[in-house]
Amino acid sequence: MTDVTPPDDLAPRILAGDRRALARAVTLVESTRPDHRAQATALIDGLRGHGRQALRIGLSGTPGVGKSTFIEAFGMALVEAGLKVAVLAVDPSSSRSGGSILGDKTRMERLSRERAAFIRPSPSSSHLGGVARRTREAVALCEAAGFDVVLVETVGVGQSETMVAEMCDLFVLLLAPAGGDELQGVKRGIMEIADLILVNKADGDLKPAATRTVADYAGALRLLRKRPQDPEGFPKALPVSAVTGDGLEGAWAEMQTLARWRKDHGWWDRRRAEQAAHWFEEEVRAGLLSRLRTDPEIRTAMAEMAESVAGGHLTPDAAAADMLARLRR
Ligand code: GDP
Repeated sequence: MTDVTPPDDLAPRILAGDRRALARAVTLVESTRPDHRAQATALIDGLRGHGRQALRIGLSGTPGVGKSTFIEAFGMALVEAGLKVAVLAVDPSSSRSGGSILGDKTRMERLSRERAAFIRPSPSSSHLGGVARRTREAVALCEAAGFDVVLVETVGVGQSETMVAEMCDLFVLLLAPAGGDELQGVKRGIMEIADLILVNKADGDLKPAATRTVADYAGALRLLRKRPQDPEGFPKALPVSAVTGDGLEGAWAEMQTLARWRKDHGWWDRRRAEQAAHWFEEEVRAGLLSRLRTDPEIRTAMAEMAESVAGGHLTPDAAAADMLARLRR
């Protein structure tokens, strides 16, 4: 498709499961340099058609709910079961603060030492569109490298959750036990994209509260419209403890049940196809917006037209039609 060649023999090394090559490739997709971008696109394109599919799991939860502890315990359980696990993080806050909550190196210490695991913290500072692309490409790279499970972690901020759900096969929402009977301000939109709600910290003194919270959410989920892509009983709410490990095996069993059912009923392929179409449109939109922002000729024309519109010489609609016609040329 393009005549740019990715560096070295990255593609075959990735296909051979070489983690260092994978790490280099992820660095490449994170780069915003135009030559790197072209190489990354060529690399991803060249890796098409390897036929491997990981189970992509989106995982979200507010800071402190236990995401790292959960991923460490859950990831270790998967590795012990003989699976290869990749963990990627999307941290929308890092674009504002420049620092990353999900980038802390001390997180998931045991898992990060496992040969069958690949952990990549979120890159610091990038706009959400850039984060979406790099995460999507990193997922594709992990899949090509033969990972069985790719966990994409994000903090509970609406936009990033929707974005992560758009690139995953399953979406898991991690919650903490609630004190009262309120639904922790979880937005309806997030409930609607969740396939599994896991109430973490269901241990010790917190166990009764966790049990109540699970019941509350199970009730709330029953009120949602049944989705055609779900078997009976989904979405579900379950208690887990990332510390004791209780419920982790059950949660994994539910994820597999759901994935199996969707594969058997055509929803899996359909969803991936819809996601590919979605991201194609997003990329076109992002590319156009970037031209509007960066192309000097277009910027000048935009500024001139804006002035004409402000001065009452052109209607906004006529100016927009004119501008769009110029973009087509
Ligand atoms: P994150 O910010 O979502 O990644 O949360 P962390 O994994 O860093 O956990 C936040 C705090 O909750 C830490 O003090 C953990 O030890 C604690 N925690 C995490 N999981 C559990 C659990 O299953 N039970 C209990 N009791 N505490 C937990």
